[in-house]
Amino acid sequence: MEKKNIDWSNLGFGYIQTDYRYVSNFKDGAWDEGCVTTDANVVISECAGVLQYAQTIFEGLKAYTTEDGRIVTFRPDLNAQRMIDSAKRLEMPAFPEDRFIDAVDKVVRSNAAFVPPYGSGATLYLRPYMFGSNPVIGVKPATEYQFRMFATPVGPYFKGGVKPLTIRVSDFDRAAPNGTGHIKAGLNYAMSLHAIVDAHNQGFDENMYLDAKTRTKVEETGGANFLFVTKDGKVVTPKSSSILPSITRRSLLYVAEKYLGLEVEEREVYLEELSDFAECGLCGTAAVISPVGKIVDHGKEICLPAGMTQMGPVTQKLYDTLTGIQMGRIEAPEGWIHEIK
Ligand SMILES: *Cc1c(COP(=O)(O)O)cnc(C)c1O
Repeated sequence: MEKKNIDWSNLGFGYIQTDYRYVSNFKDGAWDEGCVTTDANVVISECAGVLQYAQTIFEGLKAYTTEDGRIVTFRPDLNAQRMIDSAKRLEMPAFPEDRFIDAVDKVVRSNAAFVPPYGSGATLYLRPYMFGSNPVIGVKPATEYQFRMFATPVGPYFKGGVKPLTIRVSDFDRAAPNGTGHIKAGLNYAMSLHAIVDAHNQGFDENMYLDAKTRTKVEETGGANFLFVTKDGKVVTPKSSSILPSITRRSLLYVAEKYLGLEVEEREVYLEELSDFAECGLCGTAAVISPVGKIVDHGKEICLPAGMTQMGPVTQKLYDTLTGIQMGRIEAPEGWIHEIK
């Protein structure tokens, strides 16, 4: 397979159009058989449900080359399942898990020339999404939907080395207690845009969102879950029904317990106890885990002992182990690595 002429290690996180994408349409209560297409454009009614009432959901996962040259994805069954959960909450039809995996295989296989080589640090990012496509003007769910999946190569997240983040406690809320925080919906991101632009203008990398009801407990950032490490080496993650269940976070907790022999805890985490932690990281598909060096709560600075120049020791071990599993250097738990053949 001849690779595209791309400077892999200098890629950023941006959209680069690739050759193929997958499309399937839902109409009259059923999905069509779907196909791979070269057409990167979507043509829909000016009144499409997605354009009027934001009926859209998405997923994100990566394909990469392992040390021994295979092309694999990481736990795509969990992305398929989460997308079904998202669809249900927004009254959209489920796209079946086996069809989701088949679409992953087809998009990656047809774009194999865009899968970055092992060691470049780059990956092929896959973006599955679904939206209401027929005209909707009275407020109700669409009756027709389009599922699509495209691929775009993205660069190494820690280009030029790890730089721990500075985050602020946000005055904006991300998700209501019985709202849509636990599903991967575009609407959760639309309402976070003002908060992130404002955070960047104030010199912060990210927002730490609190629970909207009491504003005393840590939830997550706009697009990543928190992991904390206590001074005695326990790994803690916030528990809340309005947090998006990150696949990376769930995998890291498993790695912490089963590979590193650490104690893990999913529980409510109070803003007040942040200064007791030794390490803090943000987890998601993009970075796996990126360290947080400083949390600012309205002028009060909480500096994590791990500092502003490197990952803390536990964060580093978690990162090395999970990326080792993903890249085929460390044996994976059953079912975690899905090879594209
Ligand atoms: C996608 C997402 C994450 C990270 O989930 P992964 O499955 O690990 O990529 C975390 N928080 C939010 C709000 C997200 O949308």
